[in-house]
Amino acid sequence: MSMREFCTSASGLYIALEGIDTSGKSTQIEALRARYPQALITKEPGGSKIGQDIRELILHTPDLDRFCEFFLFLADRAQHYHEVLKPSLDSHKLVISDRSLISGVAYARDIPQAIEYNHTAIRGVKPHLCVLLLLDEANLRARLGQKTHDKIEERGIAYMLEIQERLQRFCALLGVRTLEIDATLPPERITQMIVREVDLLELDSVELG
Ligand code: ADP
Repeated sequence: MSMREFCTSASGLYIALEGIDTSGKSTQIEALRARYPQALITKEPGGSKIGQDIRELILHTPDLDRFCEFFLFLADRAQHYHEVLKPSLDSHKLVISDRSLISGVAYARDIPQAIEYNHTAIRGVKPHLCVLLLLDEANLRARLGQKTHDKIEERGIAYMLEIQERLQRFCALLGVRTLEIDATLPPERITQMIVREVDLLELDSVELG
């Protein structure tokens, strides 16, 4: 597939890291920050100024209605596009984001038109590449056991595995080029696999001008 076929933005390169909590996104983000010092490293939710407040609200509001939660994520996504994503892509930057609209859709179970709402928030822009870190149940349990559970994790292992399946499904449904990686591989090996793919994409985009 050529760059043009999946490229939705004429400039910059937009890479999203996806995976359920504890799959190793933050670990890889830090490795990629070191490998690509020129990249803009960001996250959803929380990549914009107001997004940081929205993230706190989502994590710490008791009895948050699921529709309210969904629309808070969308508000974060819209501002992130305006403040971070669009300016960076317009100035031809490499953007690496911890989560994206793919999480937005995957976590929005039973919310009608979740895909359309997410597309609207981010004005039709999609990642050029989604790196999807996949965990098996035993390793998920082990990693969760070592971490203080946040609100989403408290919903349980079965829920998280269902979300993981939805992440896979929506990458395909949204037509996003996806690199699925076994999240239990050594971190350095995972970084190598990501770097190889990003370098390929960068090469394609230079060749295609
Ligand atoms: P996330 O950002 O997706 O929630 P983290 O990067 O915080 O995940 O990783 C969750 C936990 O798993 C951390 O304790 C981290 O050190 C560990 N971890 C991350 N990547 C790996 C890996 N490839 N192999 C083993 N443990 C890992």
